[in-house]
Amino acid sequence: MCRHLAYLGEPLAPGELLVAPPHALYRQSWAPREQRHGTVNADGFGLGWYADGDETPARYRRAGPIWADAAFADLARVLRTRALVAAVRSATPGCADGEAAAAPFAAGPWLFSHNGAVAGWPGELGALAALLPPAELLELEARTDSALVWALVLHRLRAGATPGEALAATVADVAKHTSARLNLLLTDGRSIAATAWGDTLYHRALPGLGTVVASEPYDDEPSWQRAEDASLLLVEASGVTVQRLPGRD
Ligand code: GLN
Repeated sequence: MCRHLAYLGEPLAPGELLVAPPHALYRQSWAPREQRHGTVNADGFGLGWYADGDETPARYRRAGPIWADAAFADLARVLRTRALVAAVRSATPGCADGEAAAAPFAAGPWLFSHNGAVAGWPGELGALAALLPPAELLELEARTDSALVWALVLHRLRAGATPGEALAATVADVAKHTSARLNLLLTDGRSIAATAWGDTLYHRALPGLGTVVASEPYDDEPSWQRAEDASLLLVEASGVTVQRLPGRD
């Protein structure tokens, strides 16, 4: 099960969150502390971030382990951004490999990451895939459960749902059809929506800076707050709100 992280706030270097802390995402790629599914996260990684004045994010993704990429730590040290999503991947059975399968996925202003797995992928998910028009199925970024979940979320966003509504409705749709772990992260650079559904999720305020949402704490500071399972987190400049998601058995 992958590990992921999102940040929203004042400009900072992604490396301050992703590389420098003692248990940062970088280290979580080989030594996660709270991962219950999978062991290492060596099947690709990605960072998506926003430059000031440009609402379309940039992405840097690779198919291999983050520790084997000499450029990543350098880039993460010198960039500055007000919002980012990053992930390290542990591919689940039946899912394609390669850069295209590494989160974050993107469309327009959106960045998305899925930490989890959808049971029955790919062969038993016809009913779920049928929720999408064929043209949107053909646009899948990769042949993975995560890309299908992203297509379902994007379909809702395009129909006018808010980020929180799109995540909650997608979790409900998938849970209706099959069992799944669905820790989702979504940002448009101005807010973050995240779900805890089957795996750990934390958030933390960085005083004077902003808010981090992450699969697991990157250090031992006491200010990390764990979200309960089956919850939806909404992060805006004004702070964090947490709602319960219905339908957990
Ligand atoms: N199932 C997804 C994939 O294979 C996500 C994996 C994960 O969370 N470990 O890419």
